Amino acid sequence: MATIFSKIIAGDIPSYKVAENEHFYAFLDINPLAKGHTLVVPKREVDYIFDLDDEELAAMQVFAKGVALAIQQAFPCQKVGQAVIGLEVPHAHIHLIPIQRESDMIFSNPKLKLTDEEFKAIAAAIQQKWSER
Ligand code: AMP
Repeated sequence: MATIFSKIIAGDIPSYKVAENEHFYAFLDINPLAKGHTLVVPKREVDYIFDLDDEELAAMQVFAKGVALAIQQAFPCQKVGQAVIGLEVPHAHIHLIPIQRESDMIFSNPKLKLTDEEFKAIAAAIQQKWSER
């Protein structure tokens, strides 16, 4: 059965897309730790990130780098933090989170409650920077 992220990539479930290429897809996390919190996923359905082929993992990281630069341009921050957890959704994904301090990366922190309009505006701002690269 397809993962929820495969359904998102296929367009069967809506998402706030920020970037895409042939092999990878980036969209806003629906329970964000910060404005701009983004997930990067491979289109190929693999559960555990370290089961990806070397080339695929390297390409995913390079794709994530471009997305991180776009996030930082759209949402100025100290750095964009990167994390991999993957205990909830069995489809490899990298979290990219604009941070000001270490504690901004704590996943048990309260999540932001954003409206549909806010999510759309955030995604559009990152997508704009992504397309200007
Ligand atoms: P984890 O697998 O522990 O890295 O957590 C999965 C992440 O995916 C969580 O941060 C969720 O908020 C996020 N998530 C789950 N379903 C969706 C969805 N439909 N759209 C966007 N983000 C999602």
